[in-house]
Parts: sequence; C-alpha cells; structure tokens
Amino acid sequence: MSEGEVDLNKLREELELIKAAVMTRLPFIASLLGKVRIYYSSKVSYPAAATIDDDIILGPEFLNYSINAKIFALAHEVLHIAFRDIIRGKKRRYEKLWYFICEAVNNTALNEVISIPYGLNVITMYHIRSVMTPEMYRKLPAPLEDCSKDDIYAVLKHYVKEIKIPVWVMDHCSDGISDKGELIQEGDSAFYRGRAESEEREEAVKDAVAKAHIMQKQAGRGAGALERLVERLLQSQVPWQTLFRSAIREGLGKTVLSTWRRPSRRFPALPGLKRLRRPTCWVEIDSSGSISQRELESFLTEAYSISKLTDLKFVVWDAEVQNFFNVRGPGDFKKVWKAIRGYGGTEIQPTLKFTLENMRHGDLVVVLTDGEIWDVEEPETKLLAEQVRNKASTAIFVTTSKDCIWPGWKNIRLRLSTLEV
Ligand SMILES: [Zn+2]
Repeated sequence: MSEGEVDLNKLREELELIKAAVMTRLPFIASLLGKVRIYYSSKVSYPAAATIDDDIILGPEFLNYSINAKIFALAHEVLHIAFRDIIRGKKRRYEKLWYFICEAVNNTALNEVISIPYGLNVITMYHIRSVMTPEMYRKLPAPLEDCSKDDIYAVLKHYVKEIKIPVWVMDHCSDGISDKGELIQEGDSAFYRGRAESEEREEAVKDAVAKAHIMQKQAGRGAGALERLVERLLQSQVPWQTLFRSAIREGLGKTVLSTWRRPSRRFPALPGLKRLRRPTCWVEIDSSGSISQRELESFLTEAYSISKLTDLKFVVWDAEVQNFFNVRGPGDFKKVWKAIRGYGGTEIQPTLKFTLENMRHGDLVVVLTDGEIWDVEEPETKLLAEQVRNKASTAIFVTTSKDCIWPGWKNIRLRLSTLEV
C-alpha cells in the first residue's frame, strides 16, 4: 500500500468494473477511458482533474463518491481530454469563463446518457442561462443549445466583469500538477504520441475519439447531444483558412512575377524594374445569404490577416451592389456586419460588372457567399465571371454551402475549425 491509507489495488479493480459497466451502455466513453493514463494523488484537493498532458488525476474525495458519481466523474474528465478543453483554455484570455462554459456544455451533453448523480454538484447549461441577459442571447448566432463553446465564449467574454461564475467542486482543469502521485492505469501509448500540445498528440487523441465514436455507432446506441458534439469534433479536413491563404499567396506571387517579366523600356536587354504595385483585393460579401455571424467573423479575420499584403476593398451585394468601402482593420468589423443585413435576392451579375469596371489587372477577387445565387448559371454571368477571372491574378469563391461552377475560379468551402465543439 502507498499514498497513506489508500488501497490502490482496490481502486484499480473498481476502475475495471466501471469500464466494463460503461462499455455496454456507452462504448464511446469506455473506449477512451481504457486509453487514458490515470493517477491517484492524495495531494489533489478535487475529486478528479484532467491535466494538460491528457492525464486524469483522482483525489481522496473521489474515493468517497458513490459508484454512479465515480462513473460520471471519470466520463467528465474523459470529455475534457477528448475535446481538448484544457489546451484550448490556455489560449483564452478568460480561462475561468472558458472552463465554466466547458463544464456546462459537457455536463449537459453527458447528462443525456449518464444522469447526473444525486448530490453531485456540477455546472450545467442552467448555470449559463442564469448568468445570461436578453442582450447576450441576441448576440448568439443560434439558440443556446445549438451553440458551440466558442460561440458562447465569444459573446460572454464581453461581459466577463458582470458575470458571476459559480464555484464548482468536482474537478479542476489544471496544468500545474507536477506530482501526479501513483499510477493507477498506464493507458495506451498510441494515445500519448508526441508531446502534449503537439499536433501529433492532437491527431492521436482525435484518432482515439474517432474509433470510440465508431464503437458507439456499432453498438447501435445514439448518444444524443454527446454524439452531436463528437461529430462536430470529427469533421476533419484541411482548415479552410489554410486553403484561403495559399490561394491568396498564389495570386500575390503572380503579381510580383509579372512585374519582373516586363522588360525595361530604356534598356530592353535588361529585365524590368521590380515595381511592386500593391494589388487590391476585392472582397465581395453576399449579404442575402445564410452566412452566420460566426462564419463572417471567421472570414473577416482571414481577410484582415491579408490586409498587410494588399489593400482591401469591400463590396457588399445582394441583387445589386449595396455598399462599397475600404476597411482598415478589425475595428471595422461592425461596419461590415451591419451592412450585410440586406434582404434582397441574390444576383451576382451587377457585382461582377462593377468589379470588372473598377479593378485593375492583377488584383485579387474574393467572393464570399452561401452559393445560392439565382443567376449563377446564366450565360451573361458566366461571361462576366470569366472576364473578371482573366483580369484578376486570382479569383476565389469562398462558399458556406453551394460550390462554384465557374471555370478558373478557386472554390473554397468555409468550414469552421474542427475543434470548435
Ligand atoms: Zn470539468
């Protein structure tokens, strides 16, 4: 025996029983629970904790829990690890607020499959609702239940001073635990690939989550809200931002190249002067489509990041050009958001015509839309799209749902980060 009076073997046995019991009902949780490293430490003042290295540490209070509370607590910590809550929390300015939201979202989802045991003091969506005002609800991009943690955080962070975050007792997401105590379960080495916080580790965890998800599906047991969270997590693809940046870079590269190719007028044998004209990037936003505030925000963040390289001109359009302005920085975001509340139909011809007339050779053109454009297939539209495409160094169609059919245009699907659960 070690760690004082505690019989660690008994704890190990109990853990095996819990895994077996959970396996029949919730293979998703059981599978992950079998892969994580678990410690027991008499120094931990919380019943359980998930660490930034993806370990679980149990404390003395855990031992006094009922079997149902133990199951709930273990499942709870597993979710923190599966959803990368702690690592993502470290990047947040208001860590406590972030964890508050994680607690509520995870527990509420978990509660659908493992009822919160009587007497266990946990944060749920009820607590989020109790701190929210009508103004905050209005700012959410969707009903609270459909919002991701990031959605909720993005709104609540502006009210962080007014929000009284309840004290919760079940766990503490921590990175500062150096003495983890006694090893209870070694876990799967494949799960612990790479360093904590590395991309390799993230992949390994995602891998395990995907496998656990398949097991849950094979068991034929849907897990409601939990399953929806997991599915959102698993939509894996190259982040659209990466595609967007490389398309922009490609366009900018062409601009520089063409100035090199132009021969010097005075000395035809010499290459032309490297005259670097800053190309303009035309950002054309469909205001009538079903683009959410979150999608627009994500898109504008990217647009601003390229504004160091090019001049940005924003065109807001629906059935015609509605608004046209220069945007100088993220502070102008509100201006754009306000402008895109149009209710007209979606016809892109007037916008393409406007762009063609006002753009210079080598400019970049980016259209942001949901792709539901009435005149997209009209010959006149296609011709204009082709002319814009030929004049531009690159023409990019960023769409939230329907893809582009115009030849030569790059099509990028705007999808939000896979980890925005
Ligand atoms: Zn927690």
